[in-house]
Amino acid sequence: MQVNVNWVNGITIELGKDIIYFDPSRKNKTNDPIFISHAHSDHLGGLGSTGKCHVTRGTLDILSQKNDKRINDFKKIKYGNGLKINDIEVKAHNAGHMLGSAQYEINGPETNITYTGDINYRDMLTTKAAKPLSSDILIIEATFGNSQYVFPNLMETCMRLISWTIEEIRRKKIPVFKVYSAGKAQEVIKILNNFTTLPVVTHPKVTRVCKAYVNNGINLMYVDSTNEEGKELLRGRECVFITPSYNEIPDFKKYSLAAATGWALRYRLKNVNAAFPLSSHADFNQLVDYIKASKPKQVFTIYGFKVFFANYISKKLGIKARALTSKN
Ligand SMILES: [Zn+2]
Repeated sequence: MQVNVNWVNGITIELGKDIIYFDPSRKNKTNDPIFISHAHSDHLGGLGSTGKCHVTRGTLDILSQKNDKRINDFKKIKYGNGLKINDIEVKAHNAGHMLGSAQYEINGPETNITYTGDINYRDMLTTKAAKPLSSDILIIEATFGNSQYVFPNLMETCMRLISWTIEEIRRKKIPVFKVYSAGKAQEVIKILNNFTTLPVVTHPKVTRVCKAYVNNGINLMYVDSTNEEGKELLRGRECVFITPSYNEIPDFKKYSLAAATGWALRYRLKNVNAAFPLSSHADFNQLVDYIKASKPKQVFTIYGFKVFFANYISKKLGIKARALTSKN
């Protein structure tokens, strides 16, 4: 059976006569099935396509809480359960990146393909590490596929984050974390819940995603900023505020701002007082470990340092590799 992997507004895998789309960046007008890896907006462009959209329960819960109108025609898939498409079977597995995140195993009659989506290969406080899938062809994310990105131990980052938070409270400031409302916000809340007794106040956009996490058994303690209790806490100042990264904070004297992202490892981030290298992605070493465990014959890299990483895989690991771009 002929196998083709391409980038056509997202990942397309052709196995014989069948075409399957993964994380398309825009709506598709064909009836071909679509699989969404997780609820971050850069992976959701294909929602509302003509073909059936497949998502995990966690992803669906987040989209429902966010009132995303594009989820009217979808099929829920469970981790570990196979879905048959003619001679092909597609299986979702935990990707460790956020609630509901999936890596996909695509089993054709002769070829086995893995698409990792955004992946994290270590345990966090709100997610379990992804397990590597063995594959003939591996399509792997390369957001941090550069040897300059090796993250410190998670506990070390947690302790730095907590120390900074307590110090800002002592200085009569409200520590504010400007982070992705889905995934990173919940991880920061969990760190604060586990290591401090400080109340955590959340922007409504963060609150909605927190509800999906709680519905899926991940216990988080937070108060919405639009509640009377939330407003009172913000007036009293002895609390932490979690808000989307794009949200403007008007009163700089009252607040002290922080970011939490893997990019903090190499870049001095603008408009924040502190930045912590807390990432929900695999770092360079984890990506290399994944490839070694997966033992593919061919690798396609996507996102971030995809060209650098493909070169590394070819030269250092001796595996055929190339960056997946629309020119391929
Ligand atoms: Zn993501």
